[in-house]
Amino acid sequence: MQTFTTAAELTGLLSAARRRGQRIGFVPTMGALHRGHATLVRRSVEEQDLTVVSIFVNPTQFTEGADLTAYPRTPEADIALLEASGCHFLYMPGVEDVYPAGTAERLTDRLEFGSLTTRMEGIQRPGHFGGVAQVVHRLLEIVDPHVLYLGQKDYQQVAVIRRMIELIGSRVVVSTVPTVREPDGLALSSRNRLLQPEERRAAGAINGQLAAVVAGLQVGWPARELERIATATMHQLPLLNPEYVEVFDGDTLLPYQDGDPVRELVVATAVRVGRVRLIDNRIVPPAQP
Ligand code: AMP
Repeated sequence: MQTFTTAAELTGLLSAARRRGQRIGFVPTMGALHRGHATLVRRSVEEQDLTVVSIFVNPTQFTEGADLTAYPRTPEADIALLEASGCHFLYMPGVEDVYPAGTAERLTDRLEFGSLTTRMEGIQRPGHFGGVAQVVHRLLEIVDPHVLYLGQKDYQQVAVIRRMIELIGSRVVVSTVPTVREPDGLALSSRNRLLQPEERRAAGAINGQLAAVVAGLQVGWPARELERIATATMHQLPLLNPEYVEVFDGDTLLPYQDGDPVRELVVATAVRVGRVRLIDNRIVPPAQP
């Protein structure tokens, strides 16, 4: 694996690879890598000729300064994990390399995301998706991959990035990878390592609540009622503070109205566990005929 800290070094090699007809897969990350990230990387390695991973803790997508400072950074372990996963190029830039003209200039602010950024994380973390669109736009400009690999764990983020790609007229294909979980169901997240042992145990209940909502939807229970029960149940469990549980249409991210035909039905939650904020979601499997 070759590591680059500047876009200038990386883009030359990638252009040469493209001219040779090689296909490029790209996995953007914020580091503190785990098996979830490794799954995305391995998928790209299997499917493409060259895999590029970026590790960049993007300051513009953090709405709380303390969250940015506390974000875990484990560069040595990250490099070892990427080597073991077959990654070819690692891009680990500083802020100036990603934003040479400063962070204020945001082409993506002119894009219209409609309901994709006005619900759930869009409410709880104002400005977050502006920062996500900004950084992914810039990273796509640098890497110019054929396929962009994203985790379903960040369902709303995938929807926003897909729309951005459509709006800027890019030809990059988005490939999503199912959420990788711990044995107790907790979705792997870089933030999990910030949990105290007791908080970690408590967080294992989050996925069970999403599973209960899925089961309820499958037997026709009202969505709002299921959201209410899951929220109340988590409030009663030690150390869990749910911000929302929402059942929504996967295309618009608007609340699901019982009986509406939707292509993909999803339930998502954000839960504070101590000082750590975790998100998770599940897609409701289509009813068997
Ligand atoms: P992050 O480093 O948290 O920005 O995540 C980088 C990429 O890894 C994003 O596309 C995430 O959705 C994806 N990812 C994070 N956690 C998981 C997981 N548990 N399973 C699968 N993909 C994940």
